[in-house]
Amino acid sequence: MATTKECAGEFWPLSGQPLQDKRTPNGGIEVWNRQQCRRFGRAGVLGWSISVIAVVAVAGCGVAGTGTSKNSLRSTANFGGNTVYSNGVGPGKKTPVPVINKTRKTGPQPANPVGIVLRDPQWPADPKNYEVSKKAVANFGVKVPILEYHEDTYVPGDLATLRPGQLKEELRWLVAHKFHTINMGQLYAAFYYGYVLPSRPVLLTFDDGYESVYLKVFPLLKKYHLQATLFIISGYTHRLPNRKKEFPDLTVSELQSLQASGWADVEDHTVTHQDLSTLTPSQDRQEILGSSQSLSGWVHHPMIAFCYPDGGYNAQVLSLLKSQGFLLGTTEHQGYAQLSQGALTLDRIAVLVDTTQQQFVSRLSPSLQ
Ligand SMILES: [Zn+2]
Repeated sequence: MATTKECAGEFWPLSGQPLQDKRTPNGGIEVWNRQQCRRFGRAGVLGWSISVIAVVAVAGCGVAGTGTSKNSLRSTANFGGNTVYSNGVGPGKKTPVPVINKTRKTGPQPANPVGIVLRDPQWPADPKNYEVSKKAVANFGVKVPILEYHEDTYVPGDLATLRPGQLKEELRWLVAHKFHTINMGQLYAAFYYGYVLPSRPVLLTFDDGYESVYLKVFPLLKKYHLQATLFIISGYTHRLPNRKKEFPDLTVSELQSLQASGWADVEDHTVTHQDLSTLTPSQDRQEILGSSQSLSGWVHHPMIAFCYPDGGYNAQVLSLLKSQGFLLGTTEHQGYAQLSQGALTLDRIAVLVDTTQQQFVSRLSPSLQ
């Protein structure tokens, strides 16, 4: 069995440990004990503290409790529709692909950030906008970095925030080096429907729905003409501003403005941000369906991408997502996203308050070659 180490969910090695994917080709995991990990996620909830939640999350990863690792699940339930991706199927194998079967409501007309004629300009992240071929063929050669951000407002001691000016410096570097931001629909169409991505594609994802996304990130997206995907916790999205909180959340109207602008696409991050791998089937169902219904009602498009709170998922969760028509999912596994990981369990690259500019550049270096 492999001897790789990995912090479960949104628990990362303590400072000084490299933040990188330590999986080996055979997918083994050695879970870090909780003294070796620190939490980030809902910024400020636990800060740097070691918590009992760490024990739960580690167990939820499956290595300790069930003998089934997250990584083995990645190759058994990858697609968001009615197709199961069997163990052992690898690059080059053709696999049927699900289709979007949700009804969309009409919404406000957004800008067109991708610069091409869209079949559905009201929702730029609609995968159908980018379909080149009618017949789906999995493309395992597509490799894209999905950057993972949380709170843009700096809070000392909280790993999931960013230093003042950090995001601007990183975005300027992306622009200067001719990266092109894409949305989840473009990624999905590139995976399955022959869409040719722009050079140096990258996804910007912001988890949890902090109000700083509207107040600070949104102006930067518009200034630099960049797209972002927002993974929103529906239960924390409120009607009126609540800026007395240490970490204010987006309001519904802010969410709608972001989506209508065309620069941001709202996707799903559950109702209450619980580790889904620790919940009962009915609780998982409530978390996934509840948020999907609320969010699609607010922003007038179906939810196609999902982000696992604390990185926790299991076969039950993946099955639910497939049945609800989700097409892509993002995890806390570190690295470039590619289809061999499973469409519902894609890698990301976390950008944290202690990520130096040099580390940021280094993690994106495969795109520069
Ligand atoms: Zn989160």
